[in-house]
Amino acid sequence: MGIAEAVAELRPVLGERLSTSLSDLALHGQNESWYPPMPPDAVAYPESTEEVAAIVRICAAQGCPLIGWGAGTSLEGHALARYGGISVDFSRMNRMLAINPEDMDCTVQPGITREDLNTELRATGLFFPVDPGANATLGGMASTRASGTTAVRYGTMRDNVIGLEVVLADGRVIHTGTRARKSAAGYDLTALFVGAEGTLGLITALTLRLYGQPEAIAAGICAFEDVASAVDTVIQTIQMGVPMARIELVDADTVRAFNGHAGAEMPEKPHLLVEFHGTEAGVAEQAEMFGALAAENGASGYRSATKPEERSRLWKMRHNAYYAILSLRPGTKGLTTDLCVPISRLAEAIEETRADIAASPLMGPIVGHVGDGNFHCALLVEPGNEAELKIAKELSHRMAERALRLGGTVTGEHGIGMGKTAYMEAEHGAGWDVMGAVKRALDPGNLMNPGKLLRGN
Ligand SMILES: Cc1cc2nc3c(=O)[nH]c(=O)nc-3n(C[C@H](O)[C@H](O)[C@H](O)COP(=O)(O)OP(=O)(O)OC[C@H]3O[C@@H](n4cnc5c(N)ncnc54)[C@H](O)[C@@H]3O)c2cc1C
Repeated sequence: MGIAEAVAELRPVLGERLSTSLSDLALHGQNESWYPPMPPDAVAYPESTEEVAAIVRICAAQGCPLIGWGAGTSLEGHALARYGGISVDFSRMNRMLAINPEDMDCTVQPGITREDLNTELRATGLFFPVDPGANATLGGMASTRASGTTAVRYGTMRDNVIGLEVVLADGRVIHTGTRARKSAAGYDLTALFVGAEGTLGLITALTLRLYGQPEAIAAGICAFEDVASAVDTVIQTIQMGVPMARIELVDADTVRAFNGHAGAEMPEKPHLLVEFHGTEAGVAEQAEMFGALAAENGASGYRSATKPEERSRLWKMRHNAYYAILSLRPGTKGLTTDLCVPISRLAEAIEETRADIAASPLMGPIVGHVGDGNFHCALLVEPGNEAELKIAKELSHRMAERALRLGGTVTGEHGIGMGKTAYMEAEHGAGWDVMGAVKRALDPGNLMNPGKLLRGN
């Protein structure tokens, strides 16, 4: 591979926006999870689609790997430079390109973060709902097909990206989708690139679906005696068709972490955190229906949060759950798992997982976007402790097998990256080979984020 040659050729094109400083390489070689550092050989900071295409053409001619970089918050080592190469950091491509309030859509560059996007949209009365908690970029979120607390109401990135601009591995620029809300024109290329983890091309613009800011929002939190009662409440709420905007489970260990980290003063029991969107009357009705179901399942201490500052305190605490959990055992890293099952199998999946973790020496608090049948546990592992890492991987392996046995998926939202390729065959069968054929057709030199998602990649 001509990595050094590619770096030399890129320098006059990008000038100071091609960095080989050790701190930049280290920053783009680390991750939020347990994977060891894998730095790139250089970091490119393009400012336009044309520059991205130029970078790709040079790297293609030299056989140099290219790894897209958004905010680096992905959890399966997705953005690490496994075989070296150029990390393409999109932080300078972070502009809003167009807002179309009448059509409720907008077009953005990939490096805009979810929080900045919603700040830009605030005055329009519209918002973009997909919320993975971390302040990720829209390019990274599309590439991992992210979702989060609001997916139960608004769907995932799959449902909310309506078009893309992509630079392919040979430097061609394509546009997928239109601004129309539906189309029957051929293969759905937008869906192909959403969730491709940067293995098929680099996204340089996204057209997104927007929603009207709800007239009324109410949030709330209540405690349950056990996880099963909380999960039963979730299942009944979803089955009754209450249009929850968020319904999140945190177990007693996570609550203990909140109390220590955020001074939450909550009873150390499993809790559900909920949010309702709609008209004043609609929100009141939804809250009442949820409250009745929760009470039937023995919930106590329901507290509502209607003021914006109370709600933002509640969701900030939830979004920081990972860091609160890490503080239960300072110095550890989390091996974060992510299974998603049909809602009818959720209680079983959580109970089996809890029993498995309880029988192990590791700590693994559970949190979940349970309205989607999705939950995570962060298995706390001391860096460098191979024995603990082995136990964590075995627990994670059994969770993946459990998800498949119960008719679910090994990842509801975090993606495959380097960590979950071992399950692709079991989940997709020959479909995984089809993904490989698509990859070979679009990127025969295997330059786009090699070592991720695919067989032998
Ligand atoms: C505390 C915490 C909580 C989280 N909670 C959730 C959650 O609730 N739901 C959820 O879905 N995820 C969650 N995540 C994971 C993470 O936030 C998501 O995976 C997010 O979508 C990653 O976006 P990013 O901008 O950080 O992308 P990165 O990590 O930088 O990149 C992710 C992948 O996308 C590729 N990529 C980035 N930009 C481009 C581009 N322009 N073109 C092509 N490929 C590109 C990268 O090569 C990589 O493969 C959480 C992470 C943390 C740390």
